[in-house]
Amino acid sequence: SAKEQGKNRYQTFNVSMDDHITLKVNLENGLRKAIELNEMSIAYQPKLELLSNEIIGVEALLRWKHSEYGNISPSTFIPLAEETGLILKLGDWVLREACLQLKKWEDEGVEHLGVSVNVSTIQFLQKDFVEKVEAILKDTLADPVYLELEITESSTMDTELVISKLKKLKQLGIKISIDDFGSGYSSLSHIKNLPIDILKIDKSFINDIENDHSNQAIVSTILALATNLNLKTIAEGVENERQYQILKEKGCDQIQGYYISKPVPVAEVSKLMHFKVTNV
Ligand code: C2E
Ligand code: MG
Ligand code: MG
Ligand code: MG
Repeated sequence: SAKEQGKNRYQTFNVSMDDHITLKVNLENGLRKAIELNEMSIAYQPKLELLSNEIIGVEALLRWKHSEYGNISPSTFIPLAEETGLILKLGDWVLREACLQLKKWEDEGVEHLGVSVNVSTIQFLQKDFVEKVEAILKDTLADPVYLELEITESSTMDTELVISKLKKLKQLGIKISIDDFGSGYSSLSHIKNLPIDILKIDKSFINDIENDHSNQAIVSTILALATNLNLKTIAEGVENERQYQILKEKGCDQIQGYYISKPVPVAEVSKLMHFKVTNV
């Protein structure tokens, strides 16, 4: 009967809600000790400079292998980490690891390889964020010239405070990029005032760019804006040759995406250093 069905549906909902909450609590507890349990690692995704056809840097992307649940996507655990404040600890860890790796590459003679690290808004808004970054650079002896911080548009809303913070970071010698650019709500006049170096074009605009004329128009507009503001550009989520060609023709500086390589474990980065697009 309808009543029974209703009851079942209600019970199903109830059970799955319980499961959902249990899962969330388990993940949250897991996240608390993930670093100590060595479950966190970093995958590095290369960036190709189009003019030189060379890998000029990598992005550090956090990976979590839970003992019970296996690999958990950042789109699941990063929001949870932000909700619980654990992102501060995780963010420190990633930045430190990435800087240690930078130093290692320098010691091994790997030249001119930059590393970018994603910085959550909660992390960026900490009062002592600049001091934390400075301390990590000092501890690890990483060369700040090769470090880039990826922040999002939502980190840049409180203009005056943000500008002074960004200036201090740039005085340390590091670069700043705006990640997922175009997907947020910042206005052009706002971007104009920010002391940043790179616009990272959101992959939603690269998606199907070979067929989607609005995406082509949006990307052209972002590239023109970047030229006028003297900013570099990188497109994320480049998956095929056609997309690569279009971005090259339009004058985008760098690309990143599965067409070049997916994010890889650190041991594989040196192999990718010699990558070139050869079919063009
Ligand atoms: P993001 O910083 O915009 O990173 C790009 C995401 O797109 C990565 O997903 C990457 O693996 C994926 N990707 C790269 N190339 C392609 C492609 O060609 N096609 C498609 N469909 N996807 C591609 P991932 O590693 O799952 O990370 C998702 C998001 O989680 C990141 O987006 C970033 O916002 C966040 N995240 C990852 N690691 C960290 C971290 O250490 N700290 C913080 N605060 N956030 C992080
Ligand atoms: Mg990023
Ligand atoms: Mg991005
Ligand atoms: Mg993105």
